[in-house]
Amino acid sequence: MTEVLARYHEIALKGGNRPFFVDRLVQNLRRACADLGDVHVRAIQGRLSLVLPEDVPWERVRERIASVFGVANFSRVHEVPRDLPALEQAAVEAVRPLSFASFRVTTKRSDKSFPRSSVEIDRAVGAAIHVATGVRVDLERPELTLFVEVLRDRICFSFEKEPGPGGFPVGSSGRVLALLSGGIDSPVAAWRLMKRGCTVVFAHFHAFPLQDHTTIDKTRELARRLTRWQLRSRLLLVPFGPVQQTIVATAPAPLRVVLYRRFMVRIAEALAVRKKAKALVTGESVGQVASQTLDNMSVIDEAARGPVLRPLVGMDKEEITVQARRIGTFEISTLPDQDCCQLFVPRHPATSAKLAEVRDAERALDVDALVRAAIAGTEEETFRFP
Ligand code: ATP
Ligand code: MG
Repeated sequence: MTEVLARYHEIALKGGNRPFFVDRLVQNLRRACADLGDVHVRAIQGRLSLVLPEDVPWERVRERIASVFGVANFSRVHEVPRDLPALEQAAVEAVRPLSFASFRVTTKRSDKSFPRSSVEIDRAVGAAIHVATGVRVDLERPELTLFVEVLRDRICFSFEKEPGPGGFPVGSSGRVLALLSGGIDSPVAAWRLMKRGCTVVFAHFHAFPLQDHTTIDKTRELARRLTRWQLRSRLLLVPFGPVQQTIVATAPAPLRVVLYRRFMVRIAEALAVRKKAKALVTGESVGQVASQTLDNMSVIDEAARGPVLRPLVGMDKEEITVQARRIGTFEISTLPDQDCCQLFVPRHPATSAKLAEVRDAERALDVDALVRAAIAGTEEETFRFP
């Protein structure tokens, strides 16, 4: 058996709601490790304990837990009874095969009824290791740190603290609908909402068969990759070509991009209602392209009834790219594609569209019918991990 203790931070501040978040986290950890054999997850004294079969490679376990939002950090632990000499002996045995030039012991008592203080435990275990190995203690820059946790019924110790992704467990903050293009930004935006505990439904607008299906394929891959972080996903594929053709046939060319966006927002909101999502999410960031000026954003938002969340609004491309690489979407996003927004785009799109002009242009369109037709043609796919 291998035991892992996972710890959370932000959830701990939740007061009376804490059990709700912890239950979610337990469920998500169970799901994330569901294919690793007989895995037991339970909440214990401000932590989570995962017990897994010994033969599962640590790499696999680590990768899984490192993608479960809500986990602040985690470690593989050894356990001993609540007895200081037993701890000293086990610690000495555990460090013997390791090579290190300096070390320290860091104790945390989650059960303060233990008769020895944290500092006393640090000193006693440190002395035992020093005597057995001759290695010196270095409190500032130790090569090896032995983390000791005194629990109510036993003592656990470990040599590593792996970082978790932090945030809140997916499913604890409600549902949102993310507009997922094949680009770099929107997958990162979706991921940021997952990290805040939202379940993210993806919606992708495509112009198939006016264009090929490369963006559809890419978006599927992105949805699959992002599902590692939320374990279950739905992708809505919305036919957008007819809307674009109608706009191109009737509206002034410089307004096309803003009109496309207003229609995306309307259709996405109608889908959000059906999926019980409470907000839209986009990958926009101020000033990045013509449609993302403040003027245009406000004209686009005017078509929305509910909130449009833009988690990347203050980030620059470089920062977004770093995140995209970290979460594993960058390589997919940079594959070549034919995005529907490139279809019939004028050479000089308006950077500050006037609401009155946009509304004028929309008067020539049967907005409701276009929205209804797009929704009727929407297809849904589901993804699961593992
Ligand atoms: P991204 O890298 O996310 O594609 P971008 O820098 O290309 O963003 P835009 O093309 O202006 O910027 O798109 C802004 C946002 O609008 C995207 O982040 C996405 O949320 C949404 N969006 C754009 N095109 C589509 C699409 N075809 N399907 C779904 N959402 C889209
Ligand atoms: Mg794009």
